[in-house]
Amino acid sequence: MSWKGRRVALIGLGISNIAVARYLTKKGAIITACDQQDQHSLGRRYSDLAALGVEFQLGPSYLDNLDRFDCLILAPGVPLSLPPLIEATRRGIELSSEMSLFFAECRAPIIGVTGSSGKTTTTLLLAEILTASGHSVSVGGNIGKPLLEEVDSLTENTVVLLELSSFQLQLLQRSPAIALVTNVSPNHLDVHRSMDDYIAAKKRIFRFQTPQDWLVLNYDNDTTRRMSDEADSQVVWFSRSHQPRRGTCVIDDRVVVARAGHLQEVCQIQEIRLLGTHNLENVLAATAVADLMNCPPAVMHDVITSFSGVEHRLEFVQEIDGVAFYNDSKATTPSGTIAALRSFSRPVVLIAGGHDKQLPFDELAQVILEKAKAVVLLGATQEKIGAAIRRAADAAGQDPPPMSYERDLTEAVTTARGYAQSGDAVLLSPACASYDMFSSYEERGTRFREIVRSLVSSRIIARP
Ligand code: ADP
Repeated sequence: MSWKGRRVALIGLGISNIAVARYLTKKGAIITACDQQDQHSLGRRYSDLAALGVEFQLGPSYLDNLDRFDCLILAPGVPLSLPPLIEATRRGIELSSEMSLFFAECRAPIIGVTGSSGKTTTTLLLAEILTASGHSVSVGGNIGKPLLEEVDSLTENTVVLLELSSFQLQLLQRSPAIALVTNVSPNHLDVHRSMDDYIAAKKRIFRFQTPQDWLVLNYDNDTTRRMSDEADSQVVWFSRSHQPRRGTCVIDDRVVVARAGHLQEVCQIQEIRLLGTHNLENVLAATAVADLMNCPPAVMHDVITSFSGVEHRLEFVQEIDGVAFYNDSKATTPSGTIAALRSFSRPVVLIAGGHDKQLPFDELAQVILEKAKAVVLLGATQEKIGAAIRRAADAAGQDPPPMSYERDLTEAVTTARGYAQSGDAVLLSPACASYDMFSSYEERGTRFREIVRSLVSSRIIARP
């Protein structure tokens, strides 16, 4: 499709729409950049866009008069439920996104990875396996820089591996040749209208697939298992409990690839360096896709047994006086924190809480009762999580673990350390996004690491 002379509004000016602006100005589109922030708060983003010669519509009126555009390109996270966007759709104006544009323009085969958790870990593990097997791989989507900037140079000989969030999926009109859904549990219910809406967005990863395409699903997750009923593509399973005809599973404590009854061992579970059964699922998911790409099991073995994980995801920081500190700042949902708690056999002091995404904490509270010896709560959701723990304890007829409410992360780490004894773990796994106190989960995790490391140096200084 020619973009020359098309009038395009970019709604929400983050890195993905800045990449779109660069791409579409080259193609001759007439661009207006719309954002509720003003020129001053946009800072560098404003000057980058101004240098491209785009028009601006900023501040409270950023969604006014949308009917003068041919196409609206939405940043991930802009809710489709905003009334001016509903009205624009009703009037037949095209809604698109950086990812839709990428799918439309990309000549290379695409593997897409989505799910409520495990996306980044699985994507990066799979990228290593594919590369070690001789594929030339470009990783993007929700990770790294927008791939749209290099789409014109991607050929059929490259494999594009995309981590896709529900926001990036919701406007897609095409699906990848291989789609993987790691699992589905509640997330982002502050932006998606409902859980059904969120699941509908996830399903777009396979909705436009054909019988030549492949869909890799988690057999052990109810929502993803049911997705197979709606797929036109060929379904491959991964499972910790069930042996599929085609896919990956666990047999006698080994990760195994199954192809029509023929089994091939990849590795022993104890050789996997990543902690926890959730990471075993990520390994199974990555190997199921790697098998579709004909990666040799011996290569999978070598990568899996050397892959030590991704920062901010159950990342071991330091041991101080026998207490091990773990940074799981990327656990921004209750299910992430549940998975993290279940990964430990030693007693855990949990630091949790943060920005409120309107997710339920009841199941997390149950797991906290089972697994946490003490809980330190922070941020906007501290009262909600505390109340959920007390309710769960009342219902179980037991005492809640010791709980403390802190104002900042430094106090939280100090308090958590006070609860911990040699042999315990202190785990930052917030179950919430970070935006109430930090600009990102990375900043929160990095700050946690600094605080923990300062505990070591203050101890060294305090020694005679
Ligand atoms: P995502 O990219 O989907 O957010 P990550 O791989 O970045 O997933 O992991 C984020 C957090 O989610 C981890 O810190 C861990 O606590 C949890 N997690 C990772 N994989 C899984 C899984 N397969 N099932 C449940 N929770 C998981």
